[in-house]
Amino acid sequence: MSSDSNDKKVIPILPADEAASSAFLYAATPKIYPRTVQGVFAHWRWLGVFITQLVFYGLPWLEWGQRQAVLFDLGARRFYVFGLVLYPQDFIYLTGLLVVSALSLFLFTAVAGRLWCGYACPQTVYSEIFMYIERKIEGDRSARMRLDAGDYSLEKGVKKTYKHIVWLGFSIWTGFTFVGYFTPIQVLAHEFMTLGVGPWEAFWVFFYGFATYGNAGFMREQVCKHMCPYARFQSAMFDKDTLVVTYDAERGEPRGARSKKLDLSQSSLGACVDCSLCVQVCPTGIDIRKGLQYECIGCGACADVCDEVMDKMNYPRGLVKYSTENAVTEHWTHSQTLRHVFRPRVVVYTLIVWTLIAAMFVSLSMRPPFKVDVERDRKSLAREVEGGMIENVFRLQIMNASETPQRVHIQADGLPGLKVLTDPDLVVDAAQSRWVVVRLQVSIEKVSPGSHPIHFEIDGQDSTAVVIEKAVFIVPR
Ligand code: SF4
Ligand code: SF4
Repeated sequence: MSSDSNDKKVIPILPADEAASSAFLYAATPKIYPRTVQGVFAHWRWLGVFITQLVFYGLPWLEWGQRQAVLFDLGARRFYVFGLVLYPQDFIYLTGLLVVSALSLFLFTAVAGRLWCGYACPQTVYSEIFMYIERKIEGDRSARMRLDAGDYSLEKGVKKTYKHIVWLGFSIWTGFTFVGYFTPIQVLAHEFMTLGVGPWEAFWVFFYGFATYGNAGFMREQVCKHMCPYARFQSAMFDKDTLVVTYDAERGEPRGARSKKLDLSQSSLGACVDCSLCVQVCPTGIDIRKGLQYECIGCGACADVCDEVMDKMNYPRGLVKYSTENAVTEHWTHSQTLRHVFRPRVVVYTLIVWTLIAAMFVSLSMRPPFKVDVERDRKSLAREVEGGMIENVFRLQIMNASETPQRVHIQADGLPGLKVLTDPDLVVDAAQSRWVVVRLQVSIEKVSPGSHPIHFEIDGQDSTAVVIEKAVFIVPR
């Protein structure tokens, strides 16, 4: 093998065992019963669940003045985000947000692998909540396995029914909240209580609820393994300095059961007691001791439980831990590892992300309080009118993107003696848009036949904003 290929930095992600993969295609996948785990990463995961769900369920109920603080009103083509009133013409900000999100994903993945998957992805978060409900009703791993393996009984029927009722209730609430971002949630709640909900709203509430119930209650790790594309291209974003959940094989092997009293320094055994707890807590059912696998969502549950085992055995923690491939092979200290994690690639991603965020904030803060769209009036083409004048009619949509009424003044320029015949002063109510028909005239003697570029200038009377929109004035032959 050439030295070039030896220097390649991408960590190979082990393919699933071939025989097992083919079997998976045809056989039912065994159900996974993850064991409860406590520890640092479990706390971080629950913090992720708490923050994301507080935002998701709480945000639609927040009021901003007389309206919902965050509302994507598709019917009115208007999006409210606290003090911002956005129109479809502001699509550039959504594009910017998507670019920032994608780059942030690259950044977090370069630093610590699948951080998003392990702590904030809706699939992880809802699976965690559904498993919590399951544990509260059916008990921990062994109790659930016994219950599933046992014959049908009244206790089993009651527990299963109760679990599914709670899951369904939670799912419907999730679907309701989702729709509450697109329809005022208080109106929606009233419609639900009075059974007056519209067909589309009902469809989306139940569709989203059903997707939550299916994905978090039944599909769980199958979504991560077989449906999520992110798991497939993650290896391209990892290198030997990416923090990933790693089993320290040099320290752990040869693994084996032993007495707690065994002096490890006098034994040929490694630190792994082969308790298999790391496999039992894994939500995707893999064995981290086989190396980095694409199914690993980086949740750290195996690291938490292994630390508990190490504590019980009086061994140092960290047999399974977040570390980098280089740190493990080079035996780096914690600070040496971190120094290498914050490498040039990470610094460049960070700079790009913050530059984009700053640019978006500056652009949003300098945004004029109103927007204008110009359309030619199709019913009234260019025509000659009294007094030797040529008239063109336009329709202007003036969109107030602020929370206060806006007074505007319309002018047109670009041809000698171009006159605005419509009342040039008008008021557009807060967060509303208004169509106005504008007639322009020019003396036939001052223009030649053909198309002439002109522009509308709309001046804000309550601000210094000036919006200029191009148009074409047609003079018939
Ligand atoms: S939890 Fe730790 S000690 Fe137990 S099998 Fe896994 S790696 Fe070995
Ligand atoms: S191997 Fe460990 S970190 Fe990866 S998914 Fe399983 S428990 Fe989570």
